[in-house]
Amino acid sequence: MNRVLLVEDHPSMRTLVARELHSTGIAADAVGRISEAEVCLTQAHYAALILDRGLPDGDALPWLQRLRARQVLLPCLILTARDALHDRVDGLEAGADDYLAKPFERDELIARVRALLRRQSAWVTNTPHWGGLVVDPVGARLSHGRSSVNLAPSELQLMITLVRAEGQVVRRAALEAAAWGLTEPVTPNALDVALHRLRRKLEVIGSPVRMVNTKGVGYALEEPSSPAGG
Ligand code: CA
Repeated sequence: MNRVLLVEDHPSMRTLVARELHSTGIAADAVGRISEAEVCLTQAHYAALILDRGLPDGDALPWLQRLRARQVLLPCLILTARDALHDRVDGLEAGADDYLAKPFERDELIARVRALLRRQSAWVTNTPHWGGLVVDPVGARLSHGRSSVNLAPSELQLMITLVRAEGQVVRRAALEAAAWGLTEPVTPNALDVALHRLRRKLEVIGSPVRMVNTKGVGYALEEPSSPAGG
């Protein structure tokens, strides 16, 4: 059964939403404060977060932003009475995946939560892997066997791109776009610095995969050649 974290301070609304979710096979841990939600996140793994915006210990949006900065990337649906356009935009920019204005119909709530859960399972089943390396996009970790390291956000995007290329060369511009997007200004050596850190991390986890630079073109991951190939 999927388990979601519901953060809603209005008791009857909290009970109603939890009950509706449960009736469709989705278990919900339901709390009324950001502080309680923080505790839940340290103790359980959730498939999605359903978040009321106005909570007694603060506006949920800055908290969501802080979660995203900490690489807590579980899909999030914002529930709120505020439905002006700028509120929706604020929610999405804070890292929400979807937005539902109160009052809402039960069927719409369920449909949106299901859509979030599909997104989560698509992520999990699309865990990029190649050459014994596994990238966990949700936990932002790179592993080889039993060893793993944390990845910074730009490193995570670079590693996903390189692993998905499966040994093919990826151009510098494509790597920069993957790591920093097309609009964020990038200093000329930012890519080299990030790739240097990734090389070190490959060594730290004991991966035999090397990152090779094809001068003037780009970068690729390379598996060690077999000894028999001489
Ligand atoms: Ca509220």
